[in-house]
Amino acid sequence: MIRFEHVTKKYRGTKKPALNDVDFEVQRGEFVFLVGASGSGKSSCLRLILREDTPSDGRVVVLGRDLHALSTRKVPYFRRHIGAVFQDFRLLPNKTVFQNVAFTLQVIGASRAFIQQAVPEVLTLVGLDGKQKRLPHELSGGEQQRVAIARAIVNRPQILLADEPTGNLDPATSVDIMQLLARINEGGTTVVMATHEAGFVDQMKRRVIELQDGVMVRDDRHGGYGDTSAIPRLAPQEEKGAAATAALTAVLELQREIAAAPVEPVPSAVKDAAAEAVSATAVAAAVAVTPELATDPEPVPAGDAKPTTRPIKIDAPIVQLDGLELDDLTVAERLGLASDDDEVGPTS
Ligand code: ADP
Ligand code: MG
Repeated sequence: MIRFEHVTKKYRGTKKPALNDVDFEVQRGEFVFLVGASGSGKSSCLRLILREDTPSDGRVVVLGRDLHALSTRKVPYFRRHIGAVFQDFRLLPNKTVFQNVAFTLQVIGASRAFIQQAVPEVLTLVGLDGKQKRLPHELSGGEQQRVAIARAIVNRPQILLADEPTGNLDPATSVDIMQLLARINEGGTTVVMATHEAGFVDQMKRRVIELQDGVMVRDDRHGGYGDTSAIPRLAPQEEKGAAATAALTAVLELQREIAAAPVEPVPSAVKDAAAEAVSATAVAAAVAVTPELATDPEPVPAGDAKPTTRPIKIDAPIVQLDGLELDDLTVAERLGLASDDDEVGPTS
């Protein structure tokens, strides 16, 4: 689903590569932590996956696409499959919670009816019932990050990237956000999360890829910084069954197409322009009103982030694989959704 083939990234004007011969593959449905000290190359990795940047050497393949070969015209369509959240939330400050989430759907031409249905649904999923009309400054940090997560997942992306999403939050709130990300992953979304916070990684018992000065020094299937033997294991992905996963994938993709399919015909030039604006990056750019917001902020110093002792519980998945009925597919099919040439195939 995400493949780095001997990827080296050298930024102009720097001597040492930010990433040096990084090689790994992430499968559909995995939850992967990208860990390492500040400056080790985590954000660089995520930017390559989003095709915000290209490698100096090697290949990045995401959803079956060699991102180097992806034409600029197709980049916005490619990014529809990827949600992204950041340490600094990047919400539109003058828009309500509802409007912040709806914006993602509006720029891809989703119908009003779909937006009116999908936005409240996703806000409920992330635990923001009753807060639709608030402005970002009327919310706590944890709530603001929930809005950012809602915005990232409302279009049902196949991949969710999270760059230090708990970096500005207190330990208890961070646990809540981690639980939410875990639930989203249980629903079938591949999650890649960059973090320097060991406590969460220990508890989650998920795959850990560790970078040190741009070099991949570790790739543990069920990792953790420290001894995590006392913590109960989450059920491995493969136990869920290929058929259920395939069915879920189909539903998620159909839901995504509902989001992408406007009810009223939209002139294709308008659609293309909207598509150009759709990516998380574009949203971030619209929000980055100050230079501080535009740059990757320094993570909270390690001393400030007290290790949390509260266990991370994984609630029921957002989409229950076992409860998935064929009806779910036919309902979507009844909506008469045509497939899009620009869609990325489900099997990569
Ligand atoms: P992390 O997210 O782990 O803190 P980054 O990927 O942001 O690490 O940075 C890795 C290295 O690349 C650092 O040495 C950083 O200074 C450098 N770097 C990141 N972005 C740029 C850039 N746009 N131009 C030059 N150097 C950069
Ligand atoms: Mg970073």
